[in-house]
Amino acid sequence: MGEKTAEALPRRALFGGNGTAGVMPWTDPQRIFERCTGCGACTRACPEGIVTSGRGGHPYIEFTSACTFCGACAEACPEDVFDTARTPPMAAVARIGESCFEPLGISCRACEDACPEMALRTRPQLGGTARVEVSDAACTGCGACVSVCPVNAVEIVPNA
Ligand code: SF4
Ligand code: SF4
Ligand code: SF4
Repeated sequence: MGEKTAEALPRRALFGGNGTAGVMPWTDPQRIFERCTGCGACTRACPEGIVTSGRGGHPYIEFTSACTFCGACAEACPEDVFDTARTPPMAAVARIGESCFEPLGISCRACEDACPEMALRTRPQLGGTARVEVSDAACTGCGACVSVCPVNAVEIVPNA
């Protein structure tokens, strides 16, 4: 019998919202809370359409696609919410949740394939299963790994 694969399952079948309050480049939850007026300029400016208005109109990214770090959100903001001198821009990293296929012995690796930084590695474990590990040092928090996951297992979370 061959290796089980995820190919028979519809991609993004279980995809729902996947954003975390305060995850935005060049800023942080505290800065957003204190300085954002909820005007929506960043939401309108994002060419990827991934900036969403949360509570009070405060922005966060719904990673339906990756952040390209183009800077349009920061440029559009009329308040002092973004500090573009910050490096790296996103104080956030990927985390792999319990719904990931690999620990169940189902080969997937969609997130690993999608990562432009090679920050994800699928490590074989005893018993024919595997585990996806994140290198926090390499991860930019871009979110390219989020929407490709067929079971919505990847989250981008603040690393501070
Ligand atoms: S940096 Fe660009 S792609 Fe990323 S959230 Fe801001 S406007 Fe969108
Ligand atoms: S986290 Fe999602 S995309 Fe990555 S290996 Fe697991 S199931 Fe596949
Ligand atoms: S957030 Fe970006 S850099 Fe980090 S693991 Fe996902 S795809 Fe790779």
